[in-house]
Amino acid sequence: MSLFVEVALPVPMRQTFSYRVPKTYPSTPQIGVRVKVPFGRQQLIGLVTGITDTCSLAPKQIKSVLEFIDDKPLLPESLYKLTLWAARYYFCSQGQMLTQALPVALRKGLDAAPQKIQFWQLTEIGQNIAPEAVKRAPAQKKLLELLKPASLTQEEVISLDISKAALKALEDKGWVARHEKIAELNLDWRTTLEMDETPHKLNKEQAVAVATLNLQQGYHCTLLEGITGSGKTEVYLAVLEEILKQGKQALILVPEIGLTPQTINRFKRRFKVNVAILHSGLTDNQRLEAWRQARCGQAAIIIGTRSALFTPMAYPGIIILDEEHDSSFKQQEGVGYHARDLAVMRGHLESIPVILGTATPSLESLQNALSGRYHHLQLDERAGAAKKVRQGIIDIKNMPLKAGMSVPLLNEIRLHLDAGNQVLLFLNRRGFAPALLCHECGHLHECDRCDAFFTVHQSLGEICCHHCGNQYAIPKQCHKCGSTMLMGQGIGTEQLAEALQLEFPKHPVVRIDRDTTRLKGSLETHLNAIHKGEYKILVGTQMLAKGHHFPDVTLVGLLDVDGALFSADFRAPERFGQLYTQVAGRAGRASKPGTVLLQTHQSDNPILRDLLHRGYGEFARSQLKERQQALLPPAWHMVLVRAEAHLASDADNFLNAFAALLPQDKEFEVIGPMPAPLDKKAGKFRRQLLFQAKNRNRLQQEFERIHPLVEQLIEAKRCRWSLDRDPQDLL
Ligand code: ADP
Ligand code: ZN
Ligand code: ZN
Repeated sequence: MSLFVEVALPVPMRQTFSYRVPKTYPSTPQIGVRVKVPFGRQQLIGLVTGITDTCSLAPKQIKSVLEFIDDKPLLPESLYKLTLWAARYYFCSQGQMLTQALPVALRKGLDAAPQKIQFWQLTEIGQNIAPEAVKRAPAQKKLLELLKPASLTQEEVISLDISKAALKALEDKGWVARHEKIAELNLDWRTTLEMDETPHKLNKEQAVAVATLNLQQGYHCTLLEGITGSGKTEVYLAVLEEILKQGKQALILVPEIGLTPQTINRFKRRFKVNVAILHSGLTDNQRLEAWRQARCGQAAIIIGTRSALFTPMAYPGIIILDEEHDSSFKQQEGVGYHARDLAVMRGHLESIPVILGTATPSLESLQNALSGRYHHLQLDERAGAAKKVRQGIIDIKNMPLKAGMSVPLLNEIRLHLDAGNQVLLFLNRRGFAPALLCHECGHLHECDRCDAFFTVHQSLGEICCHHCGNQYAIPKQCHKCGSTMLMGQGIGTEQLAEALQLEFPKHPVVRIDRDTTRLKGSLETHLNAIHKGEYKILVGTQMLAKGHHFPDVTLVGLLDVDGALFSADFRAPERFGQLYTQVAGRAGRASKPGTVLLQTHQSDNPILRDLLHRGYGEFARSQLKERQQALLPPAWHMVLVRAEAHLASDADNFLNAFAALLPQDKEFEVIGPMPAPLDKKAGKFRRQLLFQAKNRNRLQQEFERIHPLVEQLIEAKRCRWSLDRDPQDLL
């Protein structure tokens, strides 16, 4: 009898592929193992999703599996189910989603079993050599001394600053030899949890939250809505203690930028357990190792960004998503999954609790909390000694500005600096100036590949397009009229930092944005210097706005927020509310009172007024009502179809054909095709089509019905297109 397997491959075709199991394969294959198979002219790695003894393909057409990589399924059943569910929900192929869920090293076929550790030991001859015998080679002598009582792993040798040359010399002499062993699985933490620091005594609100959370068993999702500084992290830690004591693991997801040493250390410091950390700075092998540690239970706590959501746990206990409103949880390229929504689904499938924590809940989570689908816990007081902040608006209409700063703001900065405190200025535009202007003819220099202006980066001597990465040396002459009178238009962080340094020469300025933190470890270095008080003035973009704790910052100033208030995106007010509240939350986090000042031309903008007067919580609740009235998410459900092509008409034709396949009625709305807000990018025209449906299931069914038809449209061949379910960004 022949056996066949169905294999999910990392290709966009929404189907699985049949392969023959070679007669030589000694056992029965299992669902969920990786296989290597021929696919066209390539060889691909995929996962087995089914096993059959018949196959509808003609015998000649069926190819054989080249290699079975695993003998056991790679993912626990819950995660396997989660990825299949996600593939359906996000309208991608099972293979794409399953691949997404694996570390790169496993996608390439590396072994998933625990790695062997290499260690060095003295040989019998080596044992009998007195270290004195090599006293003229100090490194070799040191090594002999170190190896006398115990063996050392490769990492230990490197960390002791012993050169590879010294090792090699001793190996060549036959005095030391390399051995391998599999690391012993240490699960002691499951029976005896040791603490490394004594927790704070929880305040009343915190204690109530922890008690409520600890009472519940199995799956439940809780929105922990706590203002900045209310001690959410302390609540997580207290809940973690309980989970770890039960011998279960915790998965903690944080935003891209939130994964700073500060955050990690708070989790590392509390318990004497292994913490696996998964972030983009790791090599493929380091990432795989962290994944393995989580899968076998060696790591009790797993902390990571978006994709860490798919990390298997041997003893799943809880999932915590911090800063749940953060848009980095939604993947923008490839499969557009949302780690928050999948985390909740994973909690369901594994029957474990999920906590979503934030000071500024997304309207999606808020709706779920208000409707009773999620539990809702609130922390309204600042923990510890911190006080409430004072906030004010500076109306800059007709006011002279110095590098974007008004006189009242400058005066306030001086006051805080004179008092010995730190000041944080937020400007969400990196570079020197957001555009290059010709003073003679008024021409603004535009990227030749995008519908966007070049940003001037003075220190690099370049103009760059932030949308496609296009860059040139700053031109000496206007591209239009040839004049040499070129100047920056508008203010970026680089210029702001320079101006502040001139204005306050005695107070060192640091700038934190993507340009100054490009090198690995540089963000860390800057943050440390800020904590030591080496800088007094902090200038930065969003990067500074999130999660950091700056005890000596007493003044936060927001420049140029008008752009953020006016945007085509229906989420703009929500985003602005979150950003403002998060930035403002950096002020006065310790015992010193904080002040937040916001410069605007729109001082009577109702959104701004509402936010400042009533705070994010009330503001968000009224925004949610508006969304419900406007039939927008989260009330209705949305899918965005994007198409891009060198000819705008190709994209339009495709989207029109797409739209024609779908019904339009009172509960199913189609909007477009229309140009994307950035309608030309990297030389291609971008168009989009928006679908909104009242009912989630109907949306699912209609799209599943038409998906194969769309793939067959001839117009589909003339453009690149993609579906984005629950889009976060209409760009
Ligand atoms: P959040 O995560 O809500 O912003 P944190 O957990 O970071 O708040 O707490 C803010 C500050 O208050 C931290 O410095 C923390 O150590 C301190 N803190 C939190 N809870 C307590 C408590 N119960 N007693 C004293 N200090 C606390
Ligand atoms: Zn000109
Ligand atoms: Zn460009």
